[in-house]
Amino acid sequence: MAIIAPGSTIGILGGGQLGRMTAMAARTMGYSVHVLDPDAECSASPVADRVVAAKFDDAEAAADLARHCDVVTLEIEQIGVDALAATTRHAPLRPGVEILAVIQDRAKQKSWLSRNGFPIGAYHEIHSATDLERAANELGPLFVKACRGGYDGRSQARVANASEAAATWESLGNRHSVAEKGLELEAELSVMVARTPSGEVRVFPPSLNFHERQILAWSVIPAPLPAKVVAEAEAIARGIAEQFRLEGILAVEMFLLAGGALLVNELAPRPHNSFHQTEVACSTSQFEQLVRAACNLPLGDPSVRRPGAIFNLFGEHWEAGAPRFERALAQPGVRLHLYGKRGARRGRKMGHLSAIGDTAEDALARVRAAAAAIGATLE
Ligand code: ADP
Ligand code: MG
Repeated sequence: MAIIAPGSTIGILGGGQLGRMTAMAARTMGYSVHVLDPDAECSASPVADRVVAAKFDDAEAAADLARHCDVVTLEIEQIGVDALAATTRHAPLRPGVEILAVIQDRAKQKSWLSRNGFPIGAYHEIHSATDLERAANELGPLFVKACRGGYDGRSQARVANASEAAATWESLGNRHSVAEKGLELEAELSVMVARTPSGEVRVFPPSLNFHERQILAWSVIPAPLPAKVVAEAEAIARGIAEQFRLEGILAVEMFLLAGGALLVNELAPRPHNSFHQTEVACSTSQFEQLVRAACNLPLGDPSVRRPGAIFNLFGEHWEAGAPRFERALAQPGVRLHLYGKRGARRGRKMGHLSAIGDTAEDALARVRAAAAAIGATLE
């Protein structure tokens, strides 16, 4: 299958921080970058050659983007299927419509995973308050998640018991949902896998992730977990990519349970927050890997050269004005990554700090010290 050579143009659906960092990697390799985003001044706009400002379900605008591109990829999976299909009239879309249609709906995603023999936790599909009540009675405390549109814990709710079912169903807008059994987590990890249209597959080692209020707070690679867990996690991610015949990159979020069992939490067919540290830790960043995969180039070496960690910076860290970044940057091995967003709202991802160290624990300790130096601490 043909490669899309450096010098060509890559289209990205979505111009947030993931699109921005992908665009920077693409530009480093000599590609031009066009972006589609509802906001003409999105994070990726300063590093894009063209921004098509349109909604993610605007099929005409998606076609207009693709018409001037040699390949189209994306940084957000919640894009209308008609808009996705419209791009394919002009340029290959990688990852393709079929995998995106499965992943953008939590119910479809879960049934695909279990149909194909991948391990997931107990859940019920929810169409009514009665369904939710039954799920609480059968599974105990629940995480209820709308099938479409959620991220960073949004469009989700917890249900402690059946008496809360009706109110929760209302609060989620009576939307088609999945109710998952609330699990006792030993750890959360994620694996990033890349596959080219020619069928080459490379897997990054797992990252270990820590969430606060259901949002990623910090992440470190390589996950300091037993070799058996690491090997099993990598095999699951590779298996999913091969089964989907993925063209692009895919993050597989996983739960490690106390007994050592691994379960797939959810899939993200794009760059992922828990692999930002590949920019400083690995031979190839996740963003460069996406460019290579989408362009059918040989994939880069995903191995870790130096353990690396990130700590997310949120809008609330701007409450008393811009953080004193120089205090973080004074720490050895620390780098600052800002996404160029105006409007620091609570919960909004504004940037991250990264650090490398001799071990995963060392990298994590350094990035946490740097974050603490600017007042960004865990609750
Ligand atoms: P998002 O799309 O917002 O990332 P997730 O499904 O990954 O949604 O949930 C966010 C976080 O909430 C997870 O990383 C985990 O910390 C917690 N969580 C989600 N589902 C469960 C569950 N079934 N049991 C325990 N914790 C969960
Ligand atoms: Mg998640």
